[in-house]
Amino acid sequence: MTKFIFVTGGVVSSLGKGITAASLAAILEARGVSVTMTKMDPYINVDPGTMSPFQHGEVFVTEDGAETDLDLGYYERFLRHSKMSKSNNFTSGRIYQNVLNKERRGEYLGGTVQVIPHITDEIKSKIIASGVGYDVAIIEIGGTVGDIESLPFMEAVRQMQVELGRNRAMLMHLTLVPYIASAGETKTKPTQHSVKELRSIGLQPDILICRSEHEISLDNRRKISLFTNVEERAVIMCEDAKSIYQIPRTLYEQDLDDLICERFGLDVPEADLSDWDKVVEAQLNPESTVTVAMVGKYVELPDAYKSINEALLHAGITHKAAVKIDYIDAERLEDDDSLLARLNDADAILVPGGFGERGTMGKMKAITYARENKVPYLGICLGMQLAVIEYARNVLNIDANSSEFDRKTAEPIIGLITEWLDERGELQIRSDDSDLGGTMRLGAQQAELVAGSKLAQIYGATNITERHRHRYEMNNRYIEPLEQAGMTISGYSAKQHLVEAVELADHPWFVAVQFHPEFTSSPRGGHPLFNSFVKAAKNYSASR
Ligand code: GLN
Repeated sequence: MTKFIFVTGGVVSSLGKGITAASLAAILEARGVSVTMTKMDPYINVDPGTMSPFQHGEVFVTEDGAETDLDLGYYERFLRHSKMSKSNNFTSGRIYQNVLNKERRGEYLGGTVQVIPHITDEIKSKIIASGVGYDVAIIEIGGTVGDIESLPFMEAVRQMQVELGRNRAMLMHLTLVPYIASAGETKTKPTQHSVKELRSIGLQPDILICRSEHEISLDNRRKISLFTNVEERAVIMCEDAKSIYQIPRTLYEQDLDDLICERFGLDVPEADLSDWDKVVEAQLNPESTVTVAMVGKYVELPDAYKSINEALLHAGITHKAAVKIDYIDAERLEDDDSLLARLNDADAILVPGGFGERGTMGKMKAITYARENKVPYLGICLGMQLAVIEYARNVLNIDANSSEFDRKTAEPIIGLITEWLDERGELQIRSDDSDLGGTMRLGAQQAELVAGSKLAQIYGATNITERHRHRYEMNNRYIEPLEQAGMTISGYSAKQHLVEAVELADHPWFVAVQFHPEFTSSPRGGHPLFNSFVKAAKNYSASR
């Protein structure tokens, strides 16, 4: 029978609920417990797919093609044996949509449809379904206690605690214990209030994770325990850490996993966290530093590129190098040549994925720079499409474009597959672009790499599986002229023979891929493509 740990947050947002929950999952996994994780997001959007990265950070894509909250990225990075799927992220919007669809189909037999029980029942059924087949399911509730939006989720948690009983359900609550510099003290009052808020809706936490900048004294720990009714050993301290990969050990050293295993009656061996220790050791003791210039549109909010940042960090860990990321605003690069100095300082250039025309000229300027100056270049998704357009314009000398930016372009080297198949008379139906959700190539797909290509060498394989999230594709009509001019196609999708990757033979490291390798990078080993890219950056740095 699956056991459930519900995770809520209080006082303020951004306490790192996802990281803490995932760290706990990592310890349980290290004890041989099978763990899955689910994120419940209280907002009304049906999924995060159409949300601006400016507001909500990156959209994480699962193997089965769900566009999800970036916390699922943490879950996968901390877990080795569980992959996330469509059933691991739900929003209020999705829950309401399901309930409304049932209502329209007459499934409620004319009854009055209400938050309790219909919405809460739908939430509970999703939570139960997400845990099937696992020993433990960790359910993170987005937002902060007291939010109007999260109330139905909290109510569902309350009901589940009663229904499952103490041996199958626990509640872990994260709070902030602020340090007041002028008084030289840490303060427990916000935590007390946050738990009071929880109690007022019928929830008593079993575990408190106290986030703080400074060490919390034993006295304060006792005080928190007394005022919140949480046993003292379940008041866990979590100071700011240099690396998020230290958190599993921080929790483990306070025996959080023992507490949970006892309560759930799980008779399992001790955790061995030595692989996490190695990750932290390598991250905190780099032997060299490389700088990667990341030229994108959402550079003010690094969370917009969370998985790429992490993948670069992982590759740095693999090569004992600190990877500094210099975020360059693509739009500013368009007409501010002083920014070229920053490209010049970088040991490698990366153009990440993106949507829309804004900033694309700046991104192409960076690509030209990387290509001409033989600086290692990694293009991801839009970063590949732009590498192709840049090459066509500046080497093939054709006025190429993506139909995403110019619907009527005479040379649609990148286009909707429906458009260019249409052109060849192979298309029967046109895709309907009016619904922005669900018209993309999404999720894990197989690609065949060209034997002898740099990419096949990097992966050490010619059959790979990588995740996608894009609407536009390279137009196969241009393969021949591109290859004749010196750009090699190094991979095709197994199913439709769509271009998956390009590279330049007369360049030390210029690789651009249509897929998103960042979603499958792990701190324990990195990802072959990022590992190779950071190695190229190291070589480039050493050669100057
Ligand atoms: N806008 C491009 C497309 O839809 C690239 C998407 C991306 O980079 N994720 O194909």
